[in-house]
Amino acid sequence: MRAANPSPLTLDGTNTYVAEGWVIDPGPDDDAHLDAVLAAAGDGIAGIVLTHSHIDHSEGAESLAARAGGVPVVLPSDGEEVGPFRALATPGHAPDHVCLLFGKTGFVGDTVLGEGSVFIAPGEGSLSAYLDSLRRLRALGLDVLCPGHGPYVWDPAAKLDDYIAHRLERERLLVQALDAGARTEDRLLDHAWSDVPGHLRPAAAVTLRAHLEKLSDEGRLPRDLEPGLLAGGADPG
Ligand SMILES: [Zn+2]
Repeated sequence: MRAANPSPLTLDGTNTYVAEGWVIDPGPDDDAHLDAVLAAAGDGIAGIVLTHSHIDHSEGAESLAARAGGVPVVLPSDGEEVGPFRALATPGHAPDHVCLLFGKTGFVGDTVLGEGSVFIAPGEGSLSAYLDSLRRLRALGLDVLCPGHGPYVWDPAAKLDDYIAHRLERERLLVQALDAGARTEDRLLDHAWSDVPGHLRPAAAVTLRAHLEKLSDEGRLPRDLEPGLLAGGADPG
């Protein structure tokens, strides 16, 4: 079921799934959406499981749990088994993010989206952790990914390869700009995010900081960057 909460970050809305009576990511606390989830569950809901704590996935959890008769709400940790799922830790978009594995199906929350790329903010997220998560997911050889937003991904290996290549290409361009002496946000964006339209430039500036954080962790940043570019993510603006 898709919730009616479209936005640039949620695409056409949050996807909620039901498998063997377990609800994955109830989405916003919206009566019409939760009605649809209850109807889809048919015989009743055994429990609710979250891929991460962001509000567009978790807000409706307590309401739905109450309406389902007080069922548990679980955000599992790595390796934990919940209902029919096994959790795989996939930090990156959020530090507490997990994918829920169900046979060869992966419920991947915001680790992979059906369209476009995932937003990684510095501090709250981590680009280094994210790349590791993508590689671990790739190694599972899944048949289909069910994302938190957007359509199913029927060729997980190709999608994950694209995602990894996309991030590494940005990093390559960024390092190239740094090597050429660029030190300001504007010059780094001009070089490494030149394809991004103007209205997405603020989001690109946040992503730039996530990349700089990764390079800093790896000891690969020059010391004379424009002040504020390595603010550590406290202020994602
Ligand atoms: Zn989301």
